Amino acid sequence: MDLREKIRNVPNFPQQGIQFKDITTLLKDGKAFRTAIDLLATPYKEQNIDIVVGPEARGFAVGAPVAYVLDAGFVPIRKPGKLPAATISYQYSLEYGKDALEIHKDAIEPGSRVLIVDDLLATGGTTMATVKMVEQLGGKVVGLAFLIELTCLNGRQGLAGYDITALIQY
Ligand code: AMP
Repeated sequence: MDLREKIRNVPNFPQQGIQFKDITTLLKDGKAFRTAIDLLATPYKEQNIDIVVGPEARGFAVGAPVAYVLDAGFVPIRKPGKLPAATISYQYSLEYGKDALEIHKDAIEPGSRVLIVDDLLATGGTTMATVKMVEQLGGKVVGLAFLIELTCLNGRQGLAGYDITALIQY
């Protein structure tokens, strides 16, 4: 199956000049969705992953089923003010804009083996913020897994030393 065919490119969304990679067209296709989740999880099946961490919102749609397949827990990363209990936060820059992310303080047991999953790696800002928070809580980042990587934005460069899986590259 060609997963690339299932991704819709939307020019100039959410602002001029951005080629938005829309994964809703992949998610709504049962076979493509299952294939993508299995391909993301497979490299980590023997890695004793305790927790999959996914940033909102598309990191939930992709990360939670990967956690299920790996028999791991799922921990959400959210925009400020959304998580109800005590949090830590981290400021980061996006391909389009700046933001902060939060994680519950008690979400990761020190020494946990963590896989970070998101739909797309662009500049790597979101992922680096997530890595920093996981590590601050004492988690060990075992891998970073994405459906899509925009290679021209060099997100990998800032994430050197981490194991990265990307199913589709543009
Ligand atoms: P970055 O922090 O620059 O690596 O951006 C990654 C995050 O922003 C991911 O959570 C994506 O969902 C979203 N994102 C960034 N650029 C795009 C794009 N061109 N198409 C779709 N989503 C994007």
